[in-house]
Amino acid sequence: MSKAIRIHAYGGPEVLKWEDVPLPEPGPGEALVKHTAIGLNFIDVYFRTGQYKVPGFPAVIGQEGAGVVTALGPGVESVAVGDRVAYAGPLGAYAINRVIQADRLIKVPDTVDLTTAACLMLQGLTAQYLLHRTFVVKPGDTIVVHAAAGGVGLLLCQWAKYLGARVIGVVSSEAKAELARQNGAAHVVIGHAGLPAEVKRITGGAMVPVVYDSVGKDTFAASLDCLAPLGLMVSYGNSSGPVPPVDVSILSAKGSLFLTRPTLSTHSAKRADLERMAADLFEVVAAGVVKAAVHQTFALQDAAAAHRALEARETTGSTVLLP
Ligand code: NDP
Repeated sequence: MSKAIRIHAYGGPEVLKWEDVPLPEPGPGEALVKHTAIGLNFIDVYFRTGQYKVPGFPAVIGQEGAGVVTALGPGVESVAVGDRVAYAGPLGAYAINRVIQADRLIKVPDTVDLTTAACLMLQGLTAQYLLHRTFVVKPGDTIVVHAAAGGVGLLLCQWAKYLGARVIGVVSSEAKAELARQNGAAHVVIGHAGLPAEVKRITGGAMVPVVYDSVGKDTFAASLDCLAPLGLMVSYGNSSGPVPPVDVSILSAKGSLFLTRPTLSTHSAKRADLERMAADLFEVVAAGVVKAAVHQTFALQDAAAAHRALEARETTGSTVLLP
């Protein structure tokens, strides 16, 4: 037998139940991974509440983990028993042991510990594609990053600064502002009410070519007002709730703007892309350019407490659950 956090219905943190589950067996193309750490992400909240749907109940949520391969199904050649691996994507991470398609696993370099890997895969790969593919950030660009002291946010601040960009971070408190500054934000705005005016002041009226908005409903309108003509609105999350339907004519009225709603799953769907993104991520981590920030740890069986902290905006940086 093994243990996992399962949900039997959508709801508040109390639906997360620590339960006995059978030890899974890997089928063709699959590997059994014994987790040493599991990443906590805001997307886990969406799956718990039903904003995003699980395939059926009971369900094991969670989309990021790191650990050691303990068994292989037939036909797996990309990893071996004993390999240190990490992944982001397939549901089922809130468990001591899990089965996963072996082609989703990335071998973790010896220089990176497994707890760090567990918090880097989902948030770090997201930062990678947002800065290199969704919009190619160049030296001299000024960019707006919402939730700048959060998991994805701190990685975006560090990496964008390394790329030569000037980051305007948006946060909800002075303590978070200080953290964003320490991680590379050149300017920090507290709250989004006056954000467009602040961006106008900081940029001398030019406004910005891209806004990375993970907050959603509460910030969408203010984010559009920060963009220069032909700018790109990157709406990549809903931590305050989903963005209501958009009248696309607003994009012409505000200066021929572009709008995208990207996901990591699209960007990492092809194995070659996943490998390239992970190599890029581990390179900047090895160089010390991007430092993973495990700011909170919880026991896996206390996942409900971790969810409460994340939803209450009490966390900064990344959070891991330890089995
Ligand atoms: P964070 O650590 O960023 O936590 C969420 C933060 O959002 C909070 O700390 C808070 O920062 C801010 N926030 C603003 N309004 C609210 C609200 N009403 N309730 C709760 N939080 C709020 O989480 P993650 O780093 O895990 O994820 C960040 C976002 O990125 C999420 O929306 C997530 O879904 C998205 N994401 C999208 C991906 C994609 O590929 N599309 C992949 C990975 C993540 P503050 O207090 O400073 O406002």
